[in-house]
Amino acid sequence: MIKSACHCGAVRFEVAAAPKWVLDCSCTVCRRYGGLWTYCRGEDPMTLLSEPDPAATVVYSWLDHEIGMHHCRTCGCVTHLQALDHETQPIFGLNARMMIGLDGANITIRRIDNGHLGWFWTRPDLPIIPGHHPNTPPPGREEDWGLS
Ligand SMILES: [Zn+2]
Repeated sequence: MIKSACHCGAVRFEVAAAPKWVLDCSCTVCRRYGGLWTYCRGEDPMTLLSEPDPAATVVYSWLDHEIGMHHCRTCGCVTHLQALDHETQPIFGLNARMMIGLDGANITIRRIDNGHLGWFWTRPDLPIIPGHHPNTPPPGREEDWGLS
């Protein structure tokens, strides 16, 4: 079981297992959010064990898309995707960046060029630069960073 939480902890969900792959999409909105999507339907579907509190998010959608992009009302993290018709459509996409304790080094990143750019922000150009900032969670959130 993998727990997930936004930065402030107001939006939480659980999935049965770590994703085998995540999707980096270059469309106009995904390339701005920087989300890495894992899905509850389609190929290698995730099993969603618990759903976030609907009151904890605000939804953005555009044009005639029937997809709502959910953001935490408090910290602004982009947490999940859901069809705008909530009555009949379950949550179908989760931002894997919210998942806690993953070893992302072993998760495949697939890239889909819906933005028709021909390039992506995520690519292994150079070695990883060691971080200089402390890995400090918000107060009371140490368990979400695997620090306790
Ligand atoms: Zn939050």
